[in-house]
Amino acid sequence: MRLLKIALVASLFPLASFAQTSSLHGIDVTDLDRKADPCTDFYQFANGAWRANNPIPASMTRWSKRWASGEATKDQLREIEEQAAKDKAAATGSSEQIIGAYYGACMDEAKVNARGIQPLKPWFEQIDNAEDMAQLQLVMANLHDIAVVAPFGLGGSQDPHKPTLVLADIGANGYSLPDRDYYLKPDARFKEARAKYQEHVAKMFALIGWDQTSAAGAAQTVMTMETKFAEASLDNVSLRDPSATDHNTSFAQLQDMAPHFDWAEYFKHKQLASDVDMNVDQPKFMAEFERQLQQTSLADWKVYLKWNLLNSTAGALSEPLVEEDFAFKGKYLSGTSELKPRWKRCVESTDEWFGEVLGKKYVEKYFPPEAKARMQEMVRNLLAAMRDDILSRPWMSDDTKERAMAKIATFNPKIGYPDKWKDYSKVSVRADAFFEDNLAGRRFLVEDDRATIGKPVDRGRWGMTPPTSNAYYNGQLNEIVFPAGILQPPGFDNSAVDAVNYGGIGVVIGHEISHGYDDQGAKYDYLGRLRNWWTDADLKQFQQRSACVVDQFDHYYIEEGIHHNGKLVLGESIGDLGGAKIAYLAFEKSLSGKPRQDIDGFTPEQQFFISWGQWRGDEIRIETQRLMMQADPHPVGKFRVNGPLSNLPEFQQAFSCKADAPMVRQGDKRCEVW
Ligand SMILES: [Zn+2]
Repeated sequence: MRLLKIALVASLFPLASFAQTSSLHGIDVTDLDRKADPCTDFYQFANGAWRANNPIPASMTRWSKRWASGEATKDQLREIEEQAAKDKAAATGSSEQIIGAYYGACMDEAKVNARGIQPLKPWFEQIDNAEDMAQLQLVMANLHDIAVVAPFGLGGSQDPHKPTLVLADIGANGYSLPDRDYYLKPDARFKEARAKYQEHVAKMFALIGWDQTSAAGAAQTVMTMETKFAEASLDNVSLRDPSATDHNTSFAQLQDMAPHFDWAEYFKHKQLASDVDMNVDQPKFMAEFERQLQQTSLADWKVYLKWNLLNSTAGALSEPLVEEDFAFKGKYLSGTSELKPRWKRCVESTDEWFGEVLGKKYVEKYFPPEAKARMQEMVRNLLAAMRDDILSRPWMSDDTKERAMAKIATFNPKIGYPDKWKDYSKVSVRADAFFEDNLAGRRFLVEDDRATIGKPVDRGRWGMTPPTSNAYYNGQLNEIVFPAGILQPPGFDNSAVDAVNYGGIGVVIGHEISHGYDDQGAKYDYLGRLRNWWTDADLKQFQQRSACVVDQFDHYYIEEGIHHNGKLVLGESIGDLGGAKIAYLAFEKSLSGKPRQDIDGFTPEQQFFISWGQWRGDEIRIETQRLMMQADPHPVGKFRVNGPLSNLPEFQQAFSCKADAPMVRQGDKRCEVW
């Protein structure tokens, strides 16, 4: 099929910029570590003083100005929720009633504690009453309805080949530790984690009243079953490859994959026709599911489901369970020493399950319309810069460029909040039953997702809630999404000069745009179809350039023996490298025709790079860093700053770094994708 001929022209949009007057502030010089050499360790130079003066709070895994602003947003959400909780006259199903009752029920810790494990009882009874595997499979379906997703889950997903349609996607979710390597690797640290996990599972069962022997036995069962599921699961690098999970499957084929599961009954439960379009992410996993259906005892399956229920809902249960859940996940795995205050956990829980109810109130109160207009303008400038950049790539043929331009033309930016909000008005939330309220939120979101299956794609849906301090790219919808929560200082600041904003939110916008052309994004075409739009020669060039980034990050260590997995962080690292470059290009354009303004002795270009170093500059607990090395596709802050900048000649020039400085990668060590 011949693509529409897209003119290979430069910027289609006029460049606009933030007002530039002397009343606007520049980067924060008090954050700088002036003793550090920007050409040796730019990360330390840009934010070293801030980190030294702002230790990570005991309840946080990482800390930076950006994280602090995300936490400050929760103070605002708390105010909204407390206000709503006071409004006793609010009509049932109204936003005020829902968030007020949910927050009130969550904050009533005495009541939650007094109820103890009683809310679990009807569920445990369901599991215990199952007389055979067929009956237990029905319980499994009921658990899926409350987002207890084990060992597989079914949800709506855009069809990678017919991008206007939502298909039923069956995903694998057989184990609870953060990554399959925890179960399989012989290293001492994984061995220790396995032992600690097993102790933790036993403690959780003991806390719900099981004797020591039964609790220890349950932990062993969980470990055995999860290890087998881990063995049959794709590793996290393969999971990033959309082709690896692309398996269009008919109902008959699904039945063949796991004949001991009653799929007809399950589909009936899910109100899905058996001829619905379907994808099975991991057929090899389904084979292991089938093996365990045949060979694992009914009693062991019951333990496994009870564990998944307990593990998933611990936060909504009484204090001893909350504490033990935190002791393993928060303390042991992540390195934090204190549980967050209850009000904050209640705010986070509301955001998780009732995010668009709370988020609507949040944007009404805290998100100014000017912010949206400013962002639209910056996104246009960044897309124009990406267009110019791609067209100037000497290694890419005109044919591939034409297709890359088609993709630029269909990029859809979403800013602040959804145009259409989810309708929660039928959800029943009571002020005295936190666990059940939590399940009501879970049921709503599971059903909201299920109802999309078999229908045309609704391009208005959001994958993050409005208060979230984050952003994302969705390759199938070719959309970049910036929730209101990220559009505030330090990254986005109306009272700061352009350099600060282009170096902050500008690089974030560039990062999300570059995801459209990273190792994953490059596999989707302008309509969101998973199909190759590259010539062979261009694809080879792209892969060689990507391999440079993989090699760079493979050599970034957090401590002896532990380094980034370059393939795991490739997409994010291409995003950062491309993002910094195109934000810089857009910033340089915005400067043209204006007087250059040095502030505090720093040129506009130096301020741009320092802004990125300050926005990204987070201190992260070593336990969390180890976890990230294993399971997170994002590199740690230090390498998200020093990694991309050491590849940019523009950075070298801005700080007059010598060619052999550590912050300058030369010759074939210098990576450039976009
Ligand atoms: Zn990203």
